[in-house]
Amino acid sequence: RAKSLGQGKICTYETSMDETSRRRAELAIDLKRALVRNEFELHYQVQNDTQSGGIIGFEALLRWNHPVKGRVPPNDFIPLAEQTGVIVDIGDWVLRTACATAASWSRPFKVAVNVAPMQLNYDLARRVSEVLRETGLAPERLEIELTETGIIADRQHALQVVLALKALGVTVAMDDFGTGYSSLSTLQVFPFDKIKVDKSFIQSVETSVHAAAIVKATLLLGRSLNIPVLAEGVETEQHLAFLRKEGCTSVQGYLFGKPMPREAISRMIRELSEAKAPAPSEPANKA
Ligand code: C2E
Ligand code: MG
Ligand code: MG
Ligand code: MG
Repeated sequence: RAKSLGQGKICTYETSMDETSRRRAELAIDLKRALVRNEFELHYQVQNDTQSGGIIGFEALLRWNHPVKGRVPPNDFIPLAEQTGVIVDIGDWVLRTACATAASWSRPFKVAVNVAPMQLNYDLARRVSEVLRETGLAPERLEIELTETGIIADRQHALQVVLALKALGVTVAMDDFGTGYSSLSTLQVFPFDKIKVDKSFIQSVETSVHAAAIVKATLLLGRSLNIPVLAEGVETEQHLAFLRKEGCTSVQGYLFGKPMPREAISRMIRELSEAKAPAPSEPANKA
């Protein structure tokens, strides 16, 4: 730390750079410990059929409850976890936890799990197959979400992983469609089971004719390729009306539900089952 006042400006700049990298380094250490300290939690957000409104499944979304900072959003720590490599262990935890949770649900809804690029280089298909065996979850109930950035580094290898996942009976979705570097050529090569249109487009369908045109074109593309399209970030009835009119397959967003803790979701699914089947004490079936 310089004492000379004359260099004040330069020192402030350098100090704040130091400060930033020191904070990052600290957060990286915290992140490394977070797994053993049980600070991660998965929330689940509902995905619905656009026409019937029925539930299709839930996307697992990672939450970090930092002992001092409180809840740290994924966009603030996942990039760091990727840079430091801890995302591989965290991703493994996410996979196991999401599959075990889905296996415990009283109805066989799907669970969608986000996978980071680096996980593809750590025997993802074998890990998925082990986790399915350990948790007893049927393969067709698991969907792996990949972003395009996850597959551009080594497309050939990424394709092998996707094919291996599909051979297990797991489905694979392309996440954040339209925001990547070459979404269209990726679709040409990869046999995705679902396209998830990025929420940035959905949220602008009313205010931007361009966004509306991109969403329409994506829905048309999905129909031509025979790949169902899910719209993310559906927040309003207007968004939903647009998507219904344009023939979108499925929807996810705050209009249907925010990501919620495991207990709330399990309870909701249990209540659905109870509403469907008559309670054992009910005398209705005597007649
Ligand atoms: P994503 O996979 O595209 O997930 C959708 C994000 O949109 C989630 O943010 C979700 O909470 C948010 N969202 C859902 N509906 C709405 C809506 O109606 N309006 C708005 N404004 N937002 C909505 P979240 O949970 O903060 O996660 C951000 C990103 O972090 C995810 O984007 C995903 O890329 C990454 N992420 C989350 N969990 C994991 C994980 O377990 N592993 C990996 N590798 N990445 C994850
Ligand atoms: Mg996702
Ligand atoms: Mg997304
Ligand atoms: Mg995203």
